[in-house]
Amino acid sequence: MKDQIKLLIQLQGIDSSLDAMRQEMSAGPQELEQMKLETDELEQRLTQIQANVAEMGKKKRDLEGNIEADSESIEKSQGRLQQVKTNREFKATQKEVDDLKKRKRDAEEQLLALMEELEKTEITQKELTAELAEKKTGCQAKDEDVTKVNISFEKQIVELTEDKGKIAAAIPPELLHRYNFIRDRREGLALAGVVRGTCEACHLSIPPQEFINLQKAESLMTCPGCQRIIYWEPDIT
Ligand SMILES: [Zn+2]
Repeated sequence: MKDQIKLLIQLQGIDSSLDAMRQEMSAGPQELEQMKLETDELEQRLTQIQANVAEMGKKKRDLEGNIEADSESIEKSQGRLQQVKTNREFKATQKEVDDLKKRKRDAEEQLLALMEELEKTEITQKELTAELAEKKTGCQAKDEDVTKVNISFEKQIVELTEDKGKIAAAIPPELLHRYNFIRDRREGLALAGVVRGTCEACHLSIPPQEFINLQKAESLMTCPGCQRIIYWEPDIT
């Protein structure tokens, strides 16, 4: 029985390694996918902000143009003010000048507010651009990492599967079946060591008589708590 337990322990070691590798191999691409989604989202936000900046830039140029045109109109109207002949004409031209001045002031105020908003948006744009570059670099690195891990693990999996086959061939089929049956139902762990009378997997104390039997290792025993195949691990002091 001791030899069979030894084989099972080796088998469990290989299976656990294989499980861990396969899990990492599937987790990597999932993480990468998530990172790519976040990058896409950021890219969309940045595109929107770039469009906003462009729109504000156009508005700014329009306002500046209007202000300049109004300045010219004001100057012209003020020039005419010197040449008017009647009081009525004077009043009308004066009103024109006042209206133009008011329109210009409004446009200047709008321009000021717009420039402030534009400045803020440009800062956000700069930050997002940097963040996006960082995310893209991260994706690239992760992509390379996933590929590297896959290549390395695939090689190891082939080797371990070969070892596993050799060990499994030496285990009686019925026992192997039992091992696999438990493994399927116990998170991949069919075996548990018992240290100082306690099952390492579920931490149940093995009854004293059973613990004595376990140390003798004459028959295959299972943990009363988790039903895993148990074996005695001598205390290391
Ligand atoms: Zn247990």
